[in-house]
Parts: sequence; C-alpha cells; structure tokens
Amino acid sequence: MNNKNNLIDLDKKHFIHPTSPIKQQQEQGAKSVIAEGEGIYLKDVDGKTFIDAISSLWNVNVGHGRKELAYAAQEQMSKLAFSSAFSTFSHEPAILLAEKIAEIAPDDLNAVFFTSGGSESNDSAFKLAHHYWKLKGEPKRHKFIARKKAYHGVAAASTNATGISEFREMGGLHVSNFVHVETPYEISTSEAVASIRDMIEREGPETIAAFLAEPVQGAGGVIIPPRDYFQEVRKLCDEYGILFIADEVITGFGRTGKMFGLEHWQVTPDMMTFAKGVTSGYIPLGGVVVSDSIHQVLKERSTGTLFHGFTYSGHPTAAAVALKNIEIIENEQLVQNSQAMCKVLLKGFQKIKEDIDIVGDVRTLGLLGAVEIVKNPETNERFSSEVNAAPKVIDALHERGVICRSVTFGGTDIICFAPPLTINEAQVNDIVERLHDAITEVREAILV
Ligand code: PMP
Repeated sequence: MNNKNNLIDLDKKHFIHPTSPIKQQQEQGAKSVIAEGEGIYLKDVDGKTFIDAISSLWNVNVGHGRKELAYAAQEQMSKLAFSSAFSTFSHEPAILLAEKIAEIAPDDLNAVFFTSGGSESNDSAFKLAHHYWKLKGEPKRHKFIARKKAYHGVAAASTNATGISEFREMGGLHVSNFVHVETPYEISTSEAVASIRDMIEREGPETIAAFLAEPVQGAGGVIIPPRDYFQEVRKLCDEYGILFIADEVITGFGRTGKMFGLEHWQVTPDMMTFAKGVTSGYIPLGGVVVSDSIHQVLKERSTGTLFHGFTYSGHPTAAAVALKNIEIIENEQLVQNSQAMCKVLLKGFQKIKEDIDIVGDVRTLGLLGAVEIVKNPETNERFSSEVNAAPKVIDALHERGVICRSVTFGGTDIICFAPPLTINEAQVNDIVERLHDAITEVREAILV
C-alpha cells in the first residue's frame, strides 16, 4: 500500500497532469490525492472530506459513488466489453443509446455519431459539417465561426475553435479554418450579433460551414447570454444558410435546469455535441447529434465509406453506463432538482454580494453558477492580476473543504460552481456559507 508521501513523489516523477501548473506540482506536490467519492463529497487519502462544488470537471451530474453505474459496466463487460462499430458492425448498447439520445434531444436531432469525449465530438462535428456541405455541392464552406472566451477542447481542430488564446497558443498546431467573434459578455445582443454578421460578410458567406457556441460558456467563466441572443443567432444563421452547432458538453444532461441548455431559449441547433454528463464521467463517452435533414444528405448522397471514426465510437460498455446514467437523471428528476436548487444557489450568492464589497456580478442557470470578485462593484473595476484574487478564494475554499474552479482569463476573477445535480438545499447553503467565509478572509488579506 502506498502512503501519501510516496504517492506524491511518484506523481511528481511520472504524472504529467492535464491543464495544470507543472512547476507548482513539482514544488508543492499534488494539491489533493483523492481516494473516494460519495454523493457531492470527495475524500482524500488523509480522510479529509471536500464538497465537490464543480462536479469534478462539470461532469459528475449524478454524484459520486453510484453503484448502479458500476454494476451496469460490470454487466456489460462480462457480456461484451468491446466490439467495433466500424464497417457497419453494430451492437445493442450503442443502438439503444443512440435511440435514447434521439428521444431526449430537441426536435429533429435524431442521429448520433459517438466519440470518447468533448474534443473528439467537436472535431467530428467540424468534419461532418464540411462533409455535409461537400455532399450538397458547396465544398467551399470550410470555415467555422466560434466566439471569444469559448472552450471547445484541445484536439487539433477544437483547440483552434477555442477562444481562450492560452489554449490556442499551446502546441503550435494552427488550423486556419477558425475565426472568433465577440461573445455577449458585458455587451448587448445586438453588438454580439453584429460582430457575427460582420465576420460572415468579411470572410464571405459562401465560405462559412457553421457557427459554433456553448449555450452557457463554461470555462470562459459561466457566461449566460441575454434572453434574446440565441434566437437572433439562429435567425442570422438561417439568413446566410449557415449551420448552427451547439456545444452542449457542459450544458447537456440537466446541468442548466433543462435537459439541454439551448432549450431555455427554444432554439434548435443543426448539430449538438455532448460528452461529460452523458455518463456523469464514470466512463469516457461523447458524441454529435445531427438533424434529420443533415442525416438525410449523409444517407442519400454518400458513396463509399465515411472516413471518420474512432476505435471507441459507440463503445458498448460506455454506452451501457450512459443508458443507466440517463435513467438515473430521469427517474430521480435531476433536471427539475437542478432548476429548484438554482434559486437557492442564486439567493445565497446575492446575500454574499450584499454583505461583501468585493463581489460583482453573481449569476446562475440551473446548477451552473458564477461569482465575480471585483475591486469596485459599482464600476466593475477589477483587481490587477498580481493580486490573484480568484485563485486566493479557490485556495481559501480548498482549506474550508470546498473544491471549485476559477477563471482569470482576460483580467477577470470568476469563481465557478457546478455541483452534482443530486445536491439538496442544506448542501447548497453549506457551500454558500463556506464561500462567504472564504471571500471575507481573502478581502481582509488583499485590502490591507
Ligand atoms: N466543450 C466544452 C464546452 C467543454 O467544457 C469541454 C471540456 N471542459 C470540451 C468541449 C472538451 O471536452 P473533453 O475535455 O472531454 O475533450
């Protein structure tokens, strides 16, 4: 049995962590070595309990320690752990999952291409969109419009779709098909939509394959759009005949208080990518759902093989876990709970804003929430980046047994929340209380 110090030594020697400060890992060791999870709680190897207020990576929607999901994997693995879906081979779990996703996805989104995660899903959506246009006789449509502050993953194309420059600059793989427009953060719908229109006109409408957006930008800082934004975006895409791809990787499967985020604004995309909440992170799985009209073109105009597919596209064990996970979301009415707990979380955030004079905008949509730390809430003036305001709050929360994330791109200090959808009122209030304490402590430290 490895003790904690031994694990931390081995971690430093052999584990290159994803999206992590490597110097900090080497100097301070892993932040926590997590050993167990149950409901909204995680426990580290020392036995210290944390509230997982970000559902690990915005994905553990049904909470930790769900034995039903372990049994679903065990049952499927014992019968048929893996079998390919290439060359038209098929199997029951993937067929039933595709049917289930078609049932819960909005309107005419009825056909699914499976992947193992969000980045692969977005890369697949781009390739399928271009393939669709080629089959339709418009091969010049090869460009994609994404937004600033967007996060769409780190595979070759999704890295370039991402609007956070730190990710795009890493690795030097510059795919030139992507351009970025303004996102509706601190600007109006009309300004944000005008920025898309200008870009379409500048690039040439006949070259644009699709517009891509997260219904709520997650990694960009839980940016919730104005009420009319997506309806205007949909109209604009229709005006120019451009496909609209919704990246529902975070917002899918109940996270925002609807099964899928765009449902808040009664807007249906042409393609929707998903991952994370589809299995609540118990096993990797993602995918792209396309509309009937796109599927129709693929079915009727393709000749030969669709030269795109991952070994694990439609993985039977992952599909079996996803089916059980969606069953839990439905049976336990977790979408409704997300809606109900949204109000409790917002009320808590508003009280913190009233009490502490370094809290700016607070917002929630379902169980996605954000609290902004600012120098002056009246003018929205920010602390300089050397103050490290948001990371300090994250550390103070960690000391108080709460795990969540901060966003500091572009001079912001945003604390993000996305607890499991199983959370109850007392647990939401517990997070709020600890947050109140943490911000109060940080305020005292930085305003001396
Ligand atoms: N899209 C969005 C909106 C995401 O938040 C993420 C992951 N945080 C991705 C895509 C990429 O997903 P993955 O890390 O599973 O590749």
